[in-house]
Amino acid sequence: MLRIGEGYDIHRLVAGRPLKLGCVEVAFERGSLGHSDGDAAAHAVCDALLGAVGLGDMGRFFPSSDPRWEGADSRVFLREVARLVAEASAELVNVDVTIVMEKPRLAPYLDAMRAAVAAALGVEASRVCVKAKSADGLGPVGSGEAVEARAVALVEVRA
Ligand code: MG
Repeated sequence: MLRIGEGYDIHRLVAGRPLKLGCVEVAFERGSLGHSDGDAAAHAVCDALLGAVGLGDMGRFFPSSDPRWEGADSRVFLREVARLVAEASAELVNVDVTIVMEKPRLAPYLDAMRAAVAAALGVEASRVCVKAKSADGLGPVGSGEAVEARAVALVEVRA
């Protein structure tokens, strides 16, 4: 049986924080504000996979009230989500994520993000796609206040 899941995340961009997206550090003067490393792309992927196997969202497994996750590298979340997917007798078919942010240009980082997310999930890079768009100057993402990510994941559940 095939099952699909959707994930979404948004983080405020502030000075003095590194910008982590898709498990890769992006050179920029601002970074994501968040309890963990604020990697919106990794978090959207986690939620998409958890949704596909009917397990809810990241907050259920990695609550921001838990000091264990303070400053956590989001690869830890991806690894644990991959374990939960396997535990649910499911196999990741593919995951597709779109990062929306006005600046900087993410194109030079997309291949590295794809490889890093796939490695954290324990799958080959061909099963992961990372894309980037700008918000055309519209809304909080367009004004550079925030970075947003959306993901879909398909899994195959063994009968
Ligand atoms: Mg997040």
